[in-house]
Amino acid sequence: IQAHGRPRYNKNGVADRMVGMTSDITEKKLAEQRKDDFLSVASHELKTPLTAVKASIQLLNRIKDHPYSEIHTRLIEQSDKEIEKMHMLIDDLLNMSRLGQDQLMLEYGVFNLYEMLSKSCSHVRFENKYQLILKGDENLMVYADEHRIEQVVVNLVNNAVKYAKDSEEIHISIESLENEIKVSVRDFGNGISESLLPHLFDRYYRVEHMSKSYSGLGLGLYICSEIIKKHSGKIGVDSKLGEGSTFWFTLPDKKVS
Ligand code: ADP
Repeated sequence: IQAHGRPRYNKNGVADRMVGMTSDITEKKLAEQRKDDFLSVASHELKTPLTAVKASIQLLNRIKDHPYSEIHTRLIEQSDKEIEKMHMLIDDLLNMSRLGQDQLMLEYGVFNLYEMLSKSCSHVRFENKYQLILKGDENLMVYADEHRIEQVVVNLVNNAVKYAKDSEEIHISIESLENEIKVSVRDFGNGISESLLPHLFDRYYRVEHMSKSYSGLGLGLYICSEIIKKHSGKIGVDSKLGEGSTFWFTLPDKKVS
């Protein structure tokens, strides 16, 4: 504990008290340590795909005079995937820095939720493995920041693709509840154990045993929760080991038609 202060004198001119502030430097040190750890994780996470792209390009360079073959195609596709990973990591970093400066401004507008969901999911790479099933009211209009809500959904669907590899289907549903609209993204993967669920939306949190096999910064769900909170909505997850997970969020129903 660090103290800054000055003495306070009683009516006899005797200093009988110190007035001032105390600050917990151990907390500050911990915050700095966390920042350093984060920077080193972030650099590592960016370096891994970069190294893979470099290796592919070096190989392409070596075989550039050979007739175009499957190897060329594979190396280009792999590089493209790695670049996409870097892109997503950098987006998370940028969003994170905006959140830190409280610069996440929402641009509200009215849009068709079903249309937005089907459009945004067509951008996710499914590698022809997953079947995406979208259910709900096709005419529901909502008042929210379309771009930010799209960002949340893409994040949840990307996570399902990334962490629920065994899932053959991903279900997205829209429900109109009493005063709110609920969007759920359900996968049929391995699920997440109950004790970990309360931490998933924390900043930098990643499930330990999975973090080695998948790239990420532990920011995606945190960013989603900040976006949803800013809309005065709720976000959560229901999951059962062996049965899969449902990530959901709600938005207040502003009754637009
Ligand atoms: P990141 O993907 O960068 O690790 P997120 O905040 O998006 O960060 O996710 C936090 C953690 O939650 C992930 O590391 C992963 O372990 C777990 N997770 C997220 N979505 C799923 C899912 N659909 N199935 C299983 N685990 C998940």
